[in-house]
Amino acid sequence: MPYTKDYYPNIAALKRDLVRNKHYRTKVADKGSDVTVIAPHGGFIEAGSSYIARGVAGSNYNLYDFQGLRRHKPQRLHVTSTHFRDRKLSELLRHTRLAVSIHSMGDEALGEIWVGGLNLPCKQRICYALTEQGFVVNADSPRYRGVHPANVVNLPSEHGVQIELASDVIASMFAMEGPPFARRATVLPTTARFDAFVAAIRSALAA
Ligand SMILES: [Zn+2]
Repeated sequence: MPYTKDYYPNIAALKRDLVRNKHYRTKVADKGSDVTVIAPHGGFIEAGSSYIARGVAGSNYNLYDFQGLRRHKPQRLHVTSTHFRDRKLSELLRHTRLAVSIHSMGDEALGEIWVGGLNLPCKQRICYALTEQGFVVNADSPRYRGVHPANVVNLPSEHGVQIELASDVIASMFAMEGPPFARRATVLPTTARFDAFVAAIRSALAA
């Protein structure tokens, strides 16, 4: 969920003020792929996005997951996508052709998934695949369009696709109460909607 006013202007400022593994952590998996899945607002910041991004990355795509670990005011760790830069992510993007970013847009448009970004063919494939699975998709959203060239998802040579999920769509993917993130759990209880979403995105990426 993009905010107009972030508490920290960039990740460097955040890291200067906060403690790694206490307030935040990054999970990075370099699979040597030319596709990278990004959760820039993972952990409790946009709860569910970490786990969904990991599912989409699977065993073959690179993953970069920035996790906010504080439950209290997690949005303080939100650094907007146009300002989001981190060394480990830059290393991945050096050999990345296409990126996909996973976000929660909160209660902005309940029941919907907004798909943006500058890679139009991949965006189109993702919209088609999600619609086929019964998800309600808006490819021409009023906000959060992800079309700024400086948006981290658009930095690769073929740019990327930004996916914003409403909070209730995310909730439908998890069989648990409360925010779908757990600092220590590596496996969360998911539903068939989670599998459908992950399969749709992965089929679009493989096409
Ligand atoms: Zn976000």
